[in-house]
Amino acid sequence: MPLASPLDPTAMLRGAGLRVTATRVAVIEALEQLPHSGVETLVARVEADLPTTSRQAVHHVLGDLAGAGLVRRIEPAGHPGLYELRVGDNHHHLVCQRCGTVADVDCVTGHAPCLTPSETKGFDLAQAEVTFWGVCADCSTSPAGLAPATHA
Ligand SMILES: [Zn+2]
Ligand SMILES: [Zn+2]
Repeated sequence: MPLASPLDPTAMLRGAGLRVTATRVAVIEALEQLPHSGVETLVARVEADLPTTSRQAVHHVLGDLAGAGLVRRIEPAGHPGLYELRVGDNHHHLVCQRCGTVADVDCVTGHAPCLTPSETKGFDLAQAEVTFWGVCADCSTSPAGLAPATHA
């Protein structure tokens, strides 16, 4: 069920100087619907529209998009790389330690880097990438120890 998209993947690709291909467009659309997704999730989503797509092709596209600055890759400890379209705003992430749900949280000050370390060691700081770990609302209302799949 294709949602009316406020995004224009074709314009995004052209603006970044990338050739417009069906796979690239499909990956951008998949990311819009499923932010913070890993490669497996995105492959499954893209295959629904383009059954001939290979895992390799999606992987490749993600690399191209990330290289062009259209996609951001985050890698919370213990998770595979996750991809999102929200780039350049220095936002941070809340990660559930039980189910792995990832949520965006806006930058504290609205400009990068919004956090400064106690010492910069002479570095010219560009950004701060913060991962807040905790337990999400769903998990915190379910009995401890239950895997998220058994929430019901
Ligand atoms: Zn959770
Ligand atoms: Zn995010």
